[in-house]
Amino acid sequence: MRILIVEDELALAQTLQRGLAEEHYAVDVVSDGRDALDYALAAPYDVIILDVMLPGMDGFTACRRMRAGGVTSHILMLTALNAVDDRVQGLDSGADDYLGKPFAFKELVARLRALGRRGRDVQVGPLQVADLTLDETSHEVRRSDRRIDLSPLEFRLLHCLLRHAGQVLTRDNLLDQVWNFDYEGGSNVVDVYVRYLRRKIEVPGELKVLHTVRGIGYKLAEVE
Ligand code: CA
Repeated sequence: MRILIVEDELALAQTLQRGLAEEHYAVDVVSDGRDALDYALAAPYDVIILDVMLPGMDGFTACRRMRAGGVTSHILMLTALNAVDDRVQGLDSGADDYLGKPFAFKELVARLRALGRRGRDVQVGPLQVADLTLDETSHEVRRSDRRIDLSPLEFRLLHCLLRHAGQVLTRDNLLDQVWNFDYEGGSNVVDVYVRYLRRKIEVPGELKVLHTVRGIGYKLAEVE
């Protein structure tokens, strides 16, 4: 895996570079938001570890411009611990995951591994989390043998959550991707449809797969 570290705290950047090199990652380091953008556009990194507070250009802006420029690398943002607004802004600007500072190196490596596994390749077979499957061709949704009937909107919502399985999606992410027009009724419509969907895909006795991430949004995953 090829990794770009964007971090202006020199000591932290060096520690990360050394640690990740020992884990056999190929690592580049930059300390400025503009350099980060140049590097990201120039090379196919698997993961970009992106700090928020940076000279040159802040991490949110850099992230948005990377996505606008077609960068498909996984982006892991380093945000201030417990700053929900930062995490939401990070996810809305196109980051895949976030990690609050300070963090344990072990957790960073675990998240890098998870991002590496996620992949962006075309999926073969149905989309799946636990025993919940969605066949993109036949539009059939099942939990094991139980066939599930969904409305078109519920289907689009589930499809979006499954395509981003393991990722937290904010209400705005979901509004943008599922509702797909300038909906003006507010983001609580997302909560309403998540409730509808949950009733159908999680009947009593089945593993919970649709998780609420408090203050941020929703995540479809085998574990919370
Ligand atoms: Ca910084």
